[in-house]
Amino acid sequence: MMFFLASPPHAFCWGFFAHKQINYDAVFLLPPAMIPFYKLNIDFITEHAVDPDKRRYAIPEEGSRHYIDMDQYGSFPFANLPQHWGDAIQQYSEDSLVAHGIAPWWISSMHLRLKKAFELKNPEAILKLSAEIGHYIADIHVPLHTSSNHNGQKTDQVGIHGFWESRLPELFAQQHYDLINSKALYIEKPLQYIWQRVYESSLASDSVLSLEKNLANSIPSDMRYAFETRNGMVVKQYSSSYATLYHTKLNGMVERRMRSSIFTVASFWYTAWVDAGQPDLQLLGKVKLSSEAQTDQKLLQSAWLGAKIMGRSCSN
Ligand SMILES: [Zn+2]
Repeated sequence: MMFFLASPPHAFCWGFFAHKQINYDAVFLLPPAMIPFYKLNIDFITEHAVDPDKRRYAIPEEGSRHYIDMDQYGSFPFANLPQHWGDAIQQYSEDSLVAHGIAPWWISSMHLRLKKAFELKNPEAILKLSAEIGHYIADIHVPLHTSSNHNGQKTDQVGIHGFWESRLPELFAQQHYDLINSKALYIEKPLQYIWQRVYESSLASDSVLSLEKNLANSIPSDMRYAFETRNGMVVKQYSSSYATLYHTKLNGMVERRMRSSIFTVASFWYTAWVDAGQPDLQLLGKVKLSSEAQTDQKLLQSAWLGAKIMGRSCSN
């Protein structure tokens, strides 16, 4: 029997479980002209939902694409932070922007690349970019991805990041969440739309921290942790009874953010396809990775298995 203290060896944004679930569920919101191709390749879309987190072990620049520290720019409505990258660079240096995270702008650039892949009718690129934009969109729905106190390190709450985005969905999503959504919608202004989701996350981040802090102060500390099974291993982690209390205090927040992630991912896929002129996807078929892409995939996998994360992780 194996024991790990406090956290498993790898901690991921939203956790592997939730990222895969979000991409999987997004497929079913697509219109009839898109859904057969995505359904045929749903394993690809699901499996590759976590590639961007694996890449954080291989490429230093990857880290800042997963978050933005909104508290560095004042408070809502963040009038001092331009939404457009070109304007933001005028106001802050690129180094400074990168240091505090570039997630919304990165999603915008991924959106343009996905549109291009649709225009070229390149099935492998469409699926890879769809899977990966799904990851980044899901990340900005996590409140602590918009706070410099991203793991409660400034408030003696270390571990809260994985608690909120991995432990809670793993415990409650499958049995208790209603993740049914309306169909994907065309997004007129994708960059603005993403910023709205970022603002929502930023507004929620205070509650994520303060609710846990109040709860921690109200019950004995030895009730907070327990040795319980996670992914087939016994680890010391937030106890399920403590998780249930916290989850109740959050009043559906994790479920709402997950549901919004799914809808937004599907809507971005749909919008990129419409903007590319609604190419016919019927003949594209099931995609197998090219040998070049398979090599990249192996490098990603070995970096993830063997190396230390570069830049900010979700667990420290
Ligand atoms: Zn991530």
